[in-house]
Amino acid sequence: MEDITGGASLPSTGTDAKKRRVTYFYEPTIGDYYYGQGHPMKPHRIRMAHNLIVHYALHRRMEINRPFPAGPTDIRKFHSDEYVEFLSSVSPQSVGDPAFGRQLKRFNVGEDCPVFDGLFGFCQASAGGSIGAAVKLNRGDADIALNWAGGLHHAKKSEASGFCYVNDIVLGILELLKVHRRVLYVDIDVHHGDGVEEAFYTTDRVMTVSFHKYGDFFPGTGHIKDTGAGQGKNYALNIPLNDGMDDENFRGLFRPLIQKVMEVYQPDAVVLQCGADSLSGDRLGCFNLSVKGHADCLRFLRSYNVPLMVLGGGGYTIRNVARCWCYEVSLSLSHVCVHAHTGISIPLKC
Ligand SMILES: [Zn+2]
Repeated sequence: MEDITGGASLPSTGTDAKKRRVTYFYEPTIGDYYYGQGHPMKPHRIRMAHNLIVHYALHRRMEINRPFPAGPTDIRKFHSDEYVEFLSSVSPQSVGDPAFGRQLKRFNVGEDCPVFDGLFGFCQASAGGSIGAAVKLNRGDADIALNWAGGLHHAKKSEASGFCYVNDIVLGILELLKVHRRVLYVDIDVHHGDGVEEAFYTTDRVMTVSFHKYGDFFPGTGHIKDTGAGQGKNYALNIPLNDGMDDENFRGLFRPLIQKVMEVYQPDAVVLQCGADSLSGDRLGCFNLSVKGHADCLRFLRSYNVPLMVLGGGGYTIRNVARCWCYEVSLSLSHVCVHAHTGISIPLKC
């Protein structure tokens, strides 16, 4: 049959229009958290994405949840007691207190990861969303669970890093592991998913796959030869990339690699970190992906019909982040239309 859109024909495992049960986590106050003047990380982008979602009436096609804030006990499932105690007690008012002086350094809190008003509440909402998403998938209540406030992949056991304090992804995966034997983690943020890789580096129950810019770029890890250790040997996969990756190049790597991983690893659940700093024109990123190219990763993973958690992450040109994440919601719902003449995909308004 002739392809009237003029685009490439769809592969056999490509788009399918079948509906999925989608659940979405959103904390209405998330957009009020503020890292500080000049800081590139803006939680407001999550509210922008949400407002677009509502204006396209996509919220009517999925279940909307306000996350339960993750408690210190939940967060300690991955993070150390001292670090959680610090995060829950420090404030902009008390940060100058000499009692905190040594801890700020020890826990890497300061410039990139500042102490801002309500910091712990922000972490609780982000982590609560990802844990809640895992619970929904565990119960079989949804096929796809989304949390744009999650995806904070750099946070370590006892250390903040790269604008991330609490690793909601690790906490969400630990929840998934209560029910699922094997979990696949895929990371398309422009930065290496170091915190998640490190947490599961020595286990074969979680396979981590990260596509990222490598070479003179934060956080500096994610070499192609880093493939896991001990029981986890060959269960970490790194795809280090140069500047300027475009849709075609990215897809040409992503699809065959992920296809092979799905065949060989056969995960029972998949977590996709959709960091939007891999989009063209990002304030910090250096890739050249369009929204459609970025979303193709979700399109492809969705086609496997395995319980799927979809998380946010980086993204610093916030109008693009909102567009991308709204589009990815519509794609999760299979509610997109490709304009036949221009090839531009838009969420359907009807
Ligand atoms: Zn990033």
